[in-house]
Amino acid sequence: MNFLDQFRYTFDNLSELSIAKNQDTETKTSYNNPQLKSLLSTSVKVTPEIFPKVAETIDQVFERLKLKNNFNFFITANHLQTQALCAMMPQSSNAEIIITSKMIDLLNGEELQSVIGHEVSHFYYQHSLYPSPNQARTKTEFLNLLHLSRAAEISADRAGFLGSGSLEYSLRSMLKITSGLGDQHLQFNFSAYLNQLRELTEIKGDQTQLYSTHPTFLNRMQALIWFSMSREYHQFFETNKKGVYDLKTVDQKINESIKKVTGNELDVSNKEIIEKALLWGALWIYLGDKKFSKQEQEKFSKRFGNKTTISILGLLNISNMPIIEKKVMTAYAEASTLLKSDREKITKELREIFQGVDEHSEDSKKNFEKLIKTLN
Ligand SMILES: [Zn+2]
Repeated sequence: MNFLDQFRYTFDNLSELSIAKNQDTETKTSYNNPQLKSLLSTSVKVTPEIFPKVAETIDQVFERLKLKNNFNFFITANHLQTQALCAMMPQSSNAEIIITSKMIDLLNGEELQSVIGHEVSHFYYQHSLYPSPNQARTKTEFLNLLHLSRAAEISADRAGFLGSGSLEYSLRSMLKITSGLGDQHLQFNFSAYLNQLRELTEIKGDQTQLYSTHPTFLNRMQALIWFSMSREYHQFFETNKKGVYDLKTVDQKINESIKKVTGNELDVSNKEIIEKALLWGALWIYLGDKKFSKQEQEKFSKRFGNKTTISILGLLNISNMPIIEKKVMTAYAEASTLLKSDREKITKELREIFQGVDEHSEDSKKNFEKLIKTLN
């Protein structure tokens, strides 16, 4: 347990995907690590002999974050991109962090520390366990995975800040990276830059950001400033200040602020899938005894509305069971790709619906259980 755990951003939550956390801390040998082979042959490994300043900078980050340095750092010649990335083999207990030459050139030591802390924490938080959005089975799953990816960046930025020990330098590095320019061109007036966020939300955001793996630097900067105002942060680091918000409030504010840029499409589409699953699920449970009784129709109507009930009754008139079952299963196949908290919402309400059926026949129980199983 490291203090980074308590500062992890709420929406950066691996358990949303029911993936087992990697507990295997045993060091695996890297004879067969193609990434390492390629880096050793094409980039320069950071050692105190070759890069004394960078090496010292790295040591300070590990000291601050109270983590063991199991990493190989490499600098790669790339003067076009200001980039750092953490590459690891699955199940590995160590990782490679690659930084471009442009990044090293642009940032001073303190600013670089925030980048190093950020990358190291991607490994610590096991963000590589999140499936790639490109593996998504549905559009909504794709968007949910991107949402998790953006959330992971917020956690990593906090670690970058804590690893550099300075909010100022963390924000500076962000402004440098997003503008691509260094000290000679910039005034570090962060509130002036953040005016741009207001301007962007005033014109209803930029919905293409919904497809981005990273939040905008505007959101990331805002998020970091709010985090630095949290009670938990001040308490943990005994700053003698009280903080303005609790961390939960900060996390909600950040989520809302990102949504103001990306728009609500993801929330809307998650909600639609949940509603659809509940509607077809309720019907399927009620139909367990092959009847849709008057009382059940009333309950159904109360929950899903009169109009929906009428169209369902119409459908039942012209369809047979296999057709209905197909519709139910399609809704549940889609719902099974939702994040865990949303799937739990469906399970909870479905259980209440099941408890309210006229007859707890074996068949309605079987239907109910099959739906729950499909969801998990
Ligand atoms: Zn990152």
